[in-house]
Amino acid sequence: MTVSPHPTLQDKLPPRLSRLEDLAYNFWWSWHRSARDLFKTVNRTLWTTTRHNPVRILREIPPEQLEELAKDPAFLRQYGAVLLEMEHDLRNGHLWYPQVYPELCEACSIAYFSAEFGVHTSLPIYSGGLGILSGDHNKEASDLGLPFVGVGFLYEQGYFRQRLDHNGWQESIYPLLNPNEVALRPARREDGDPVEITMNVGERQIQLQVWEVLVGRVHLYLMDANVEGNAPWDRELTARLYGGDREMRLQQEILLGIGGVQILRSLGIKPCVWHINEGHSAFMLLERLREYVEQGLSFDEAVKHVRAGTVFTTHTPVPAGHDTFSFNRMEKYFHNYCPRLGISRDKFMELGSYDNGYGVAFNMTALALRLSGHSNGVSRLHGEISRRMWQSLWPHKKETESPIGHVTNGVHLPSWTGEAMHRIYRHYISPDWVERQDNPLLWERIDEVPDKLLWEAHTHLKRKMFATVRERARQCRITQEALPDKLLASGIFLDPDALVIGFARRFATYKRAALLFRDIERLKRLVHHRYRPIQVLFAGKAHPADDPGKRLMQEIYNWARSPEMGGRVAFVEDYDMHVARYLVQGVDVWLNTPRKPLEASGTSGIKAAFNGILNLSILDGWWAEAYNGRNGWAIQAEQKESANEWEQDEADAVALYRLLEDEVVPLYYQRDRDGVPRGWVRMMKESIRTVGPMFSTRRMVKEYTENYYVPAMREILELEGKK
Ligand SMILES: *Cc1c(COP(=O)(O)O)cnc(C)c1O
Repeated sequence: MTVSPHPTLQDKLPPRLSRLEDLAYNFWWSWHRSARDLFKTVNRTLWTTTRHNPVRILREIPPEQLEELAKDPAFLRQYGAVLLEMEHDLRNGHLWYPQVYPELCEACSIAYFSAEFGVHTSLPIYSGGLGILSGDHNKEASDLGLPFVGVGFLYEQGYFRQRLDHNGWQESIYPLLNPNEVALRPARREDGDPVEITMNVGERQIQLQVWEVLVGRVHLYLMDANVEGNAPWDRELTARLYGGDREMRLQQEILLGIGGVQILRSLGIKPCVWHINEGHSAFMLLERLREYVEQGLSFDEAVKHVRAGTVFTTHTPVPAGHDTFSFNRMEKYFHNYCPRLGISRDKFMELGSYDNGYGVAFNMTALALRLSGHSNGVSRLHGEISRRMWQSLWPHKKETESPIGHVTNGVHLPSWTGEAMHRIYRHYISPDWVERQDNPLLWERIDEVPDKLLWEAHTHLKRKMFATVRERARQCRITQEALPDKLLASGIFLDPDALVIGFARRFATYKRAALLFRDIERLKRLVHHRYRPIQVLFAGKAHPADDPGKRLMQEIYNWARSPEMGGRVAFVEDYDMHVARYLVQGVDVWLNTPRKPLEASGTSGIKAAFNGILNLSILDGWWAEAYNGRNGWAIQAEQKESANEWEQDEADAVALYRLLEDEVVPLYYQRDRDGVPRGWVRMMKESIRTVGPMFSTRRMVKEYTENYYVPAMREILELEGKK
């Protein structure tokens, strides 16, 4: 997008408050209470209407108000304290990584490539779990003091905004990102010049400009092809996330992998470990091979170096979910590239060649697995599946010996914990629980929290969620002139005192959002119970090209507006990180019904669990590791090995109804005289105690560091030392 004059805020900010700009332009603020509170204090209305976006708050606030604040001693104290906290945090000496690995700190940095980054709602460059995971990984890398940079795209139209039409059919809206309303700036080299590179994509030359986003101590570099000098069709290359056809996708991945390496070079950054987060960025391997070969190494030597320094994470247990390109298409873009690697065309194609059951093609995951010395899946189960799935790449090894390990996903707890829960943890667990979050002993103290207090914190968050759902419905009435049907479907009849089940995630069909509707009569009995009703709140987007996903959504929307569900089933439009925060903090039960074993990990249930929300989930992904019989419910059907999809769905639905009828609903409504559901609260505590320390990005990034990054660093340093 055009690098506009990019007005700084300095002309507007009173000198005394000039550093508000530094705070607003580092997403550090988003996971620190003190900084969030500061921007709330600046202007609470704008905090809400901008959906928590400090850059917009500072641009939109009337200058007189800033002058007032600059004279307000209480505000100045608050401001000073937050600045000190940020400065202390951004210095790295006291952090985990430099303390444990002082010898590696200077020698070696890590570059993390991903097609999506979910850092904050205001930067819509993520579509779902993969992006949120990247964002959380970067925040944690900052918290732990890892020498870390991220590389991705700045999509000008981002991921779409969702609106359902009166038939419940998803419409996609692509608002243009305004760079002045988001915390990004043109990336600059040390000499102050903006970074711009020109690279080859097939026969064409494409210019890329680069934006910089600060995520605490981590710099995230986002490339953007919408540059004056590019042809109109090339300017579209980075416009949308997963848009366009195969041809476009291949070109995007060339930009990400090959352009990404060139951008880091141009910035003078020399990572020694390269993390490929999902196959989209695997072409970086080729570019690094080329560099080594052009420095004089033989191809095989170059492969040895590249393998030593690469970590690859695969995320999909579905064979067809991995990117492939036909050899013809590859030929078109890479025929000039083979000679530069010093290998024949055939040898080049063999690097990615793989038969995924739909024919042989160039497969990005196969490429990444062959050329990465360190590979992993994202849960124990997914590790096993991946070893089996890719075994044919290592014909001489047994399945259990396939070199793919696992690191179970986690979530960045400070980003996803509700304020009311945070307050309880600070008081009863430890004032510095965030620093010590991965110590399981610490969480034993959860038993000391009075039941009533925990329950009240939960009901407070639940009310906040309800207020948000209602306000969205009201806005929908005003801005879209929504009809009563739509208002009904958006949740205005939900009762804050009754049980609420949440289901929110991408509408991919394997997630089976409509499983609960398999037996309508049985569901109606649950929904219409006179004293113990259940309510269900749905949210999520389907990929714009995924019609089966959209039909599922339509089915749910139609139930939500139907009198048969009596306003107790609702669909919240336009799911994103902002909506997710409210839902994972404010419902009572988090429902997850993937068709096992297709959920590689899942993370939304972790966010919920740590906020005291009970998981009701198929034993797949992370939940297969976390469930202990006391911290939530496992939907486990009696299953025949031979069951087809229909039978599996039927059996899982029956198991789900049975759990709701016999366990979930009775436990929720069983109250003491003071209104507290004692048995429920006991489960909440067990959920927090078991999930918090084990499924955080704190544990996850430490595991990546100890088992992947550091071994990779040691290998590459040794190799380069020998050279
Ligand atoms: C956490 C999160 C996800 C991931 O949800 P899963 O249930 O793990 O698939 C997707 N989208 C958003 C906005 C999230 O916050």
